[in-house]
Amino acid sequence: MSSRPKKKSFSEWYDYVLREGGFIDVRYGVKGMIVYRPHGMSIVSKLYQEFESDLKERGHLQVLFPLMIGLSNFRKEAEHIKGFEDEVFIVNKAGGKDLDEPMIIRPTSETAFYPMFKLWISSYRDLPFRTFQSVAVYRYETKATRPLFRGREFLWIESHNLFSSEEDAMNHINDDIKMMSSRLSELGIPYLVVRREPYDRFPGAEESFAYDAVLPTGEVLQVATTHYLGQKFTKPFEVQYLTEQGDKQYPFSTTLGIGISRILGALIACLGDDDGAYVPPQLSDRLGVVVPILSENESSEVMHYVESVLSVLPAGQFILDNSELTPGMKYYMSELLGYPLRIEIGKKEVRDRTVTVFRRDTKKRKSVSLDALPREIGAITDDMKANLKSQSAVKIYDAKNKDEIINLSAKNLIIRANFCGKKECADKIKEGTGGYEVRGELVNETQPDGACAWCGEKAARKVILARAY
Ligand SMILES: [Zn+2]
Repeated sequence: MSSRPKKKSFSEWYDYVLREGGFIDVRYGVKGMIVYRPHGMSIVSKLYQEFESDLKERGHLQVLFPLMIGLSNFRKEAEHIKGFEDEVFIVNKAGGKDLDEPMIIRPTSETAFYPMFKLWISSYRDLPFRTFQSVAVYRYETKATRPLFRGREFLWIESHNLFSSEEDAMNHINDDIKMMSSRLSELGIPYLVVRREPYDRFPGAEESFAYDAVLPTGEVLQVATTHYLGQKFTKPFEVQYLTEQGDKQYPFSTTLGIGISRILGALIACLGDDDGAYVPPQLSDRLGVVVPILSENESSEVMHYVESVLSVLPAGQFILDNSELTPGMKYYMSELLGYPLRIEIGKKEVRDRTVTVFRRDTKKRKSVSLDALPREIGAITDDMKANLKSQSAVKIYDAKNKDEIINLSAKNLIIRANFCGKKECADKIKEGTGGYEVRGELVNETQPDGACAWCGEKAARKVILARAY
């Protein structure tokens, strides 16, 4: 084990925690593709469960589509193909021969879903039609890849939905925003929900909303997006239904992509500290470890007491660390892996019929009597969850002019400013600040209260400026 880097050297710390904490392995040998190890995969499974249950509660039905999409289908929506053509993997050979029709490996699955929607949807009674699938998608990233943040294969959930009116579709998007906001808050990830600028929308979308997590470096990382597609996909794919009046109509559609890999990365980045990761109680496969502190002559007495402690703890939620490591090393490992709780038991605890409970978030210890232990564990984990929620707010700094934008950007802060809405101006901001991007307008933002803070022209809206990961 190499020496543990402090979180202020973020990049080194992040790689260390992912590796030594047993979350993922980057040594698979294919650029941009990683292996999820058991400690990381158990969090991935819980994240999937949480989001899938939210979607199912909102009436979405789970489906599973093939990995490959015929090239002709992929090319049906012009803007979409333009936006993705540089980053798709294409399969054009099999069995040593060229394929009649090449196939693409899904970078997202609109062009897989819509040809089937055409077959499945025929009447207004079929709408709203809400679906999702939990899969990996593939994009040939040319920028430097980074485990969980940017890869060529990443895990996500994609939801594709059809509605009979624009209003129903927009209501659905508002519910997406509520659902995502509530989950990201519960996870303790600081985030912003922004309406992307028109030039920055998902290829083929009429409106794009993004969930930007704010990393400890001050950079923002898009972890999910929801898009209003209008009839831009239903028309080229000829998805039509008969209205109640008997007319043929194209439905309006939406999509939501939830980046599970990125959320895992953001979780480790945002919640961790110098000692390692912190896995929130609701995502941890175990609530904690039990560490016996043994000395030569009292070990059988301690171990006997440990048995009675384990018998009152919630079943399957705690593991006994009876390895050969010293108690100090066991503490070190439990903090690196990020278990929410640790129960320490030595001769003092045996004598007093207590245990010492250590909580990972505040790193505080508390002596708890054996009788009160089950109840206390419930109370402590509830408090840990409440703490997480209070951490998800983002501090935003308002800038009135160019100088203020430059000063705040030098400190890596999240900025809000009046903006003219022009791409050329956004490009100049990026140049003048060494990388700050116009991320978009916060949902429920107020009207601009002055001219564009950068160019002085008439402002169209207030926007968030930040450095993107
Ligand atoms: Zn401007």
